[in-house]
Amino acid sequence: MSNRVNYCIANFKMNIGTQSMLSEYFNELTFWKISDNKNIKIVVAPPFTILRSASKILSNHQLKIEIASQNVNDNNSGAFTGEVSAEMIKDCMVNYTIVGHSERRTLYKETNNQINSKILKLRNYDIIPIICIGETLEERSSNKTDQILINQITEGLKTINDSNFVIAYEPVWAIGTGKTATSDMITDTHMLIRNILNDIGFDGQKISILYGGSVNRNNAKQLISLNDVDGFLIGGASLDANHFYDIYKFIEESI
Ligand code: PEP
Repeated sequence: MSNRVNYCIANFKMNIGTQSMLSEYFNELTFWKISDNKNIKIVVAPPFTILRSASKILSNHQLKIEIASQNVNDNNSGAFTGEVSAEMIKDCMVNYTIVGHSERRTLYKETNNQINSKILKLRNYDIIPIICIGETLEERSSNKTDQILINQITEGLKTINDSNFVIAYEPVWAIGTGKTATSDMITDTHMLIRNILNDIGFDGQKISILYGGSVNRNNAKQLISLNDVDGFLIGGASLDANHFYDIYKFIEESI
């Protein structure tokens, strides 16, 4: 058993996003029984507009749940209409930020270099990046997975020299499709990621590596039993607080 932190992370995307939706969702969370002594963190990533109120509700209820933003701009400040900086995110009492989600890489053409700049900006405010990596189906079919992950990790982590980050391995073809990667794919890839981290000077055994891609309450128990899986980044199934709680419970029971 490793002493890495396990994570159960909800990515609301542009779904749960109004104040009333958030209140309804968080109302459910007040009934959760969250273990005090297990090495597990629950993190919820709502849209920017409700980050501050999400943080306030959680601290008012003294819930052991933390908040992540879904993105950050890679500049400190300036003429970047519609963008949000690391300083602004920290001002909303946020401890984590998702960077490099495949939807951002694909729809907004984010590059590994930009992701690296975002990580550097977050570090100035002690915000922990949840770095998403993963291959497309085409890349996997043409045996390019290893090279893609090597590039995403080495370029994304360029000039970073501490281990204050979390990796989420999310095969692009598994996100929102109902198709999870097989157990072998997940264990092999998580081991590969640890090896890549070792090769570039980190201690791969110390970094939490999450799996993401169509995790739900029916498959979570089996997926968390896999070697080297330190929790999940969950999209669709996290939108229902009861489903998210069931997934959390499976992680908690496994450690
Ligand atoms: C995600 O968007 O990071 C994700 C894993 O989504 P889903 O769980 O819906 O596949």
